[in-house]
Amino acid sequence: MLKADGVPFEVLDADQCVAAEPGLASAKAKIAGGLRLPGDETGDCFKFTQSLADMARAAGVTFRHGISIDRLEAEGGRIVAVHTSAGRVVADSFVLALGSYSPMLAAPLGIKLPVYPVKGYSITVPVVDADRAPVSTVMDETHKIAITRLGDRIRVGGMAEIAGFDMSLSPKRQATLTHSVEDLFGGAGDQSKAQFWCGLRPMTPDGTPIVGRSPIQNLFLNTGHGTLGWTMAAGSGRVLADIVSGQRTEIAAADLGYARYLRDGRKGQRQGSGAALPA
Ligand SMILES: Cc1cc2nc3c(=O)[nH]c(=O)nc-3n(C[C@H](O)[C@H](O)[C@H](O)COP(=O)(O)OP(=O)(O)OC[C@H]3O[C@@H](n4cnc5c(N)ncnc54)[C@H](O)[C@@H]3O)c2cc1C
Repeated sequence: MLKADGVPFEVLDADQCVAAEPGLASAKAKIAGGLRLPGDETGDCFKFTQSLADMARAAGVTFRHGISIDRLEAEGGRIVAVHTSAGRVVADSFVLALGSYSPMLAAPLGIKLPVYPVKGYSITVPVVDADRAPVSTVMDETHKIAITRLGDRIRVGGMAEIAGFDMSLSPKRQATLTHSVEDLFGGAGDQSKAQFWCGLRPMTPDGTPIVGRSPIQNLFLNTGHGTLGWTMAAGSGRVLADIVSGQRTEIAAADLGYARYLRDGRKGQRQGSGAALPA
């Protein structure tokens, strides 16, 4: 599949895995082999989003944190305002980008968004022995867990739990994450100082996000990014900016839109308007 899609990769034996990630040395006997993707990159999404917000502010964007959106007000086939805990906000165009919560705001408008929360967990552990720590990102395919080096910390993330909007932190899940990292990079991090977190991945049935127009002319969608929301964030933003501006999209976007879920879009999902949509 990788070859067919032109993705560079290398198949490694256990020695080559350890050469790429010296911290795996003590776990070498357990390693059957590895698949290396030299084109992949790792980054700190917190740093990225904070810096992006600073750049956006400098360009004149206003962020309004700590405010909840109660509903969208429609009139004459358009959205005229958003009702929030801090009052009514009027605008020309609106982008619905509320992750797993997007369907709740869209449903009263007759838009049935197939986006469902899939819960994942992570631990972030301070590095205490850099020689034993990962250099970049290692996917543990046995436990389906990603182990990433973030400067002087190790981030371990994974799991896919169908638990609605429950945000409780299960100690059993933490134990699995701890086991996975200790099994491969034993002694690299201080587990007693681990920060445990969970989040909801906004999944769609076909795994592709919903980016583009909605059945309402001035309401745009940017949701359903599932397991790869940060990876796809800049690309989705590019596509949506082009669509909102009425430009030809730089990235091919015909298959990203909500239209694929309409009955006429051959995927069999029922929804309100039934109208065919561009992009
Ligand atoms: C453990 C874990 C590991 C992950 N690892 C990766 C990874 O390595 N790479 C990657 O690319 N992606 C990863 N993801 C996926 C990524 O986090 C998501 O795809 C991404 O966060 C989706 O972004 P979003 O902005 O669409 O939604 P969210 O990040 O869910 O943001 C939606 C926001 O809307 C707010 N909101 C919702 N309803 C309302 C309302 N009514 N009023 C006001 N605010 C509201 C929420 O509070 C939230 O802040 C991971 C996810 C998890 C759980």
